[in-house]
Amino acid sequence: MSKLMNWKELPPCDTLAAKTAEAFETGDWRMGEKPVWHPEICIHCMICWISCPDSSVTVKDGKMTGFDYKHCKGCGICAKECPTKPNKAITMEKE
Ligand code: SF4
Ligand code: SF4
Repeated sequence: MSKLMNWKELPPCDTLAAKTAEAFETGDWRMGEKPVWHPEICIHCMICWISCPDSSVTVKDGKMTGFDYKHCKGCGICAKECPTKPNKAITMEKE
C-alpha cells in the first residue's frame, strides 16, 4: 500500500492541470435559484459580467446575452449589483 503524501511533499503548481475549469460543470451546485435576465430593462453596463466570480455572464459584441447555466453557481451577486431602477434587469428566481 502506498503512503499518502503530506502537503509539504506535493509538487508545487502541479496539483491540477491548467485550463480545466470549463470542463467542471459547476451549475449543478446551485441551491434552487438561478439568475434570470430581463433584456428589455438591461442597459448593457456589464457590471454583472465584471462582478460574476464564475465568468458565467455571456457576452457578444460587448453586450450581455444571458447566462452560462452550466457554470453559474447561483450566488446572486449579478442580481445584487445590477444597477437598473426601479426594476432590476436580473432577478433570482426558482429553478
Ligand atoms: S448589470 Fe444589469 S443592466 Fe448591467 S449589463 Fe448586467 S443585466 Fe444589464
Ligand atoms: S448568480 Fe453568481 S455565478 Fe451565476 S451569473 Fe450571477 S454572479 Fe455569476
